[in-house]
Amino acid sequence: MIARVIVDVATNQTDRLFDYLIPAPFIDTILPGMRVVVPFGPRKVQGFVLEIGETSEFDIKKLKPIEELIDVEPPLTNELLDLSFWVKDQTLSFHIGVLKVMLPAAMRAKYKKEVHPHPDISIEDMSPHLKTFFKQHDSVLDWDELIKKGTDLERKLLMEGVKKQELRIIPIVGTGETKKKRNAVRPAFSKKELEQFKSSLTSQAKKQIDLVDYFISKPTEISVVELMETTQTSRSTINTLVQKGVLVQEEVEIRRDPYEGRKFERTEALPLTEEQRAALNPILNKMDKGEHETFLLRGVTGSGKTEVYLQAIDRALSLGKEAIMLVPEISLTPQMVKRFKERFGSEVAVLHSALSKGEKYDEWRRIRDKKVRVAVGARSAIFAPFENIGMIIIDEEHETSYKQEEAPRYHARDVAIKRGGYYKCPVILGSATPSLESFARAQKGVYHLLTMEKRVNNVQLPVVNIIDMREELKKGNRSMFSESLTEAMRSRLEKKEQMVLFLNRRGYSTFILCRDCGYVAQCPHCDISLTYHRTNQTLQCHYCNHIETPPTFCPSCEGDSIRFFGSGTQKVEEELQKVFPDIRVIRMDVDTTKRKGSHEKLLDRFGSGEGDVLLGTQMIAKGLDFPNITLVGILAADSMLHIPDFRSSERTFQLLTQVSGRAGRHEKAGEVIVQTYTPDHYSIVDVKQHDYVSFYQREMQLRKQAAYPPYYFLTLIHVSDTDLTNAIRVTEKICHYLRENLSPTTLIFGPAASSIPRIKDRYRYQCMIKYKVEPKMIKVLQEIIKTYQGEMARTDLSVLIDTNPYMMM
Ligand code: ADP
Ligand code: ZN
Repeated sequence: MIARVIVDVATNQTDRLFDYLIPAPFIDTILPGMRVVVPFGPRKVQGFVLEIGETSEFDIKKLKPIEELIDVEPPLTNELLDLSFWVKDQTLSFHIGVLKVMLPAAMRAKYKKEVHPHPDISIEDMSPHLKTFFKQHDSVLDWDELIKKGTDLERKLLMEGVKKQELRIIPIVGTGETKKKRNAVRPAFSKKELEQFKSSLTSQAKKQIDLVDYFISKPTEISVVELMETTQTSRSTINTLVQKGVLVQEEVEIRRDPYEGRKFERTEALPLTEEQRAALNPILNKMDKGEHETFLLRGVTGSGKTEVYLQAIDRALSLGKEAIMLVPEISLTPQMVKRFKERFGSEVAVLHSALSKGEKYDEWRRIRDKKVRVAVGARSAIFAPFENIGMIIIDEEHETSYKQEEAPRYHARDVAIKRGGYYKCPVILGSATPSLESFARAQKGVYHLLTMEKRVNNVQLPVVNIIDMREELKKGNRSMFSESLTEAMRSRLEKKEQMVLFLNRRGYSTFILCRDCGYVAQCPHCDISLTYHRTNQTLQCHYCNHIETPPTFCPSCEGDSIRFFGSGTQKVEEELQKVFPDIRVIRMDVDTTKRKGSHEKLLDRFGSGEGDVLLGTQMIAKGLDFPNITLVGILAADSMLHIPDFRSSERTFQLLTQVSGRAGRHEKAGEVIVQTYTPDHYSIVDVKQHDYVSFYQREMQLRKQAAYPPYYFLTLIHVSDTDLTNAIRVTEKICHYLRENLSPTTLIFGPAASSIPRIKDRYRYQCMIKYKVEPKMIKVLQEIIKTYQGEMARTDLSVLIDTNPYMMM
């Protein structure tokens, strides 16, 4: 027998299946999706078994055998293996990279595996050989040790035991975290034996009878503490049964459940509003019929999209299926997680970047072991290894974090639709401000459009006031707060209502400038200005982490007019204190949320009224649902408009709408104040009117004129090198090759310097391809990679291809 393996060596030459012999002891247990160790040249490397076959097109005698099976059960399902071929082609990635991204990080390393007797089988009931085997050894054995040092017979027995499910292999993922243990008991007797034992007890032994009854109805392991609680018995009664040999006591490892000890009140489905029902019905319909369709749910903020998701998932579960729900990392807030836990209890696994590697692995394991049926997580949760998916949901589908910005450069939306097609289940893309691509597809009928225009309970959308900051300057107001905003804040403080102040992080950092000569402090390695950090009084480069102390005199003209410009959240906080000395500010930014759990704590404090203002960056834009917020202030609305990216208007509109959506979600009416220097820009005007469709139409015209998505597909080729002339030369050659080989209707732009022409001393050039139909595209791009792979291995040259770019710089 032959196994076809993708090896963990990421180069072009090795990016294909290699054949290996399957040695006799593995023949019965090896399965596609398992990881193996194989000889590769002089080395031993890890790999994934993709296929198993009888024959090889190579000379069987020359094939080498697999050395080791890393997994006892395949971590990847057959469907995920199939999917990996598709993702690899779509994103021009190495196959191994795609397979690895499908697994939790902890599994990218080797781990120890313990062999235990299966808990449902007592050693006495095992096949005779295994019985002797376990009697000779301890009851917990190390798998790798047994495979390496055991006799042939022992190896065979182990494999058989796994196959017959008499053995259980427990992976111990070593991440350096200490494991928590607790005392647990399980019955040593079968159900019949327990009943016999029970009849031998006198009626005085009531507590013992209670315990035996418990295990007759639930013959599984339970912690001693939990058992005492559920059966209202004492530790001494349990000990008695342990001494009599009826129960076995052991120390077991407890799952590192990040939500352990937290009680979630179960909530029932809410009666839906008319709009919610109209949106949910077609989805349920498809699910009941077992058909795939992609729905685009456009619902204004507060229209109750989450309730629609919850009820759609509920239907999937009642059909005996599973569900995946993706949310952007920043809206994976405690509030969001709580809503899921409250509805689905222990059926939910949460895959969160704040979890440690080990915790994430545990959550993933619960999915793979079918212990849960709902996975909630950020981008990579789209690869949750379910095998009977009934519903896939992507909330805030316009978020760019669904696109991975390193290889493999996949977009979770594409993967979701692909998996939805495979499992014949509906996919919901939800947003108050869908991406132009998705809305255009819905307009063409490729996606099924569902709309919710009203907030739940007819709560009004907040009133949005736009303040022209140029007028403020003319009036002599040099503060960062306009008069209207100051007044609005004052009135909220008086009424004891809460407010959110939002400062856009991107493009609005503090830099230093010489007022005499215009000098701006720049990074010596990157063509970008340095950012001033007040906490430790340093200038930092956000691209290469270069740090220096700020100059006191201008290095250029030697004058003393060096000033700090722009404003970070710290500066805003200081200014707030100056205007309102008693104001209680809760600041949320990268500095205040570094520690694990601090994000949640700050929100809890705000929720319980300990703060008047929640001041923050992107991380407060989403998912917050606090009834007492009646004012949202947006300090610098247009800071993102000027980023050189064709999506900058779209992002501005989306972000402003999201932030505005935090105001007045319940009984109290909400107000939004948007401060801007470009009050007439349509992406700001349309936020005032809450008019997504108007924004969409205007933006579509511009995209059409400039030949951008959704009218054209984009591919961006990034070339960089420490040698400037070589970067230009290679980009020129690539552009030339593309012009020769792609169809004449395809537009090719380049070579052009990137908008940040140098990062970490590497010169950066680009070539942009815009196309409508280009069947040869993937082939041509693969050819380019092949052409430069040698040079890339030898020199500093890098050629990177992004087939669906979201980062244009
Ligand atoms: P969205 O996700 O569209 O911004 P949410 O799902 O957060 O909106 O809903 C906004 C608020 O309305 C939440 O507090 C939610 O509990 C409530 N809500 C949603 N659906 C209903 C309903 N059918 N009846 C009553 N309240 C609802
Ligand atoms: Zn730098």
